[in-house]
Amino acid sequence: MKIDLHIYCDQNKIYTQLEVVRNFLPTMKKAGIKYTFDLSELSTSEHENKEKIQKIIDTKSFQRGCEKLMKEWDKRSDSIIQAIQKIISSNIAPNDPIVFFNCYCIPFGCSGYFNTPNEIFINVLLNNTEFQIQTIIHEFFHLVYQTHTSGLEYSAREKFVDDLFNELPLKKEFPNYEAQNFNINK
Ligand SMILES: [Zn+2]
Repeated sequence: MKIDLHIYCDQNKIYTQLEVVRNFLPTMKKAGIKYTFDLSELSTSEHENKEKIQKIIDTKSFQRGCEKLMKEWDKRSDSIIQAIQKIISSNIAPNDPIVFFNCYCIPFGCSGYFNTPNEIFINVLLNNTEFQIQTIIHEFFHLVYQTHTSGLEYSAREKFVDDLFNELPLKKEFPNYEAQNFNINK
């Protein structure tokens, strides 16, 4: 069972995430979480939103962000997935049997978040590519151990994921991994 994670830049998917992220703006502000949101904080018409998002998608910085992340993932995904599979198979905690993961580049929000059962969202306008790759893996572990960690409190769930990340052999691949302390999914 080989894990497969593909990164997409999908305009319709980005549009579906606008309200998700907008609803979490107050929480992110209150918690002092780093995020970008280059849109109106108040809901506007669907047509207006689509136009604004299209403009952001067309910017060089967003396009370059997507390309950089996809390129870096292509280069390193084999060794990263191999390391992840080693960790999952040696961990006594039961994992959810998810094989296919979809990761979407988005132009707003915090560094990253997930949507069960198999979606990951990464803001490519925030942080460098290295951090974005780490965020993918972080969110990935949340999804794989979603059932196992569902009864835990927020901080315990984060600790569970960070501990997995810090296990070899990922630590070798990402010597500068920093514990992440925010996720907009509860
Ligand atoms: Zn997390």
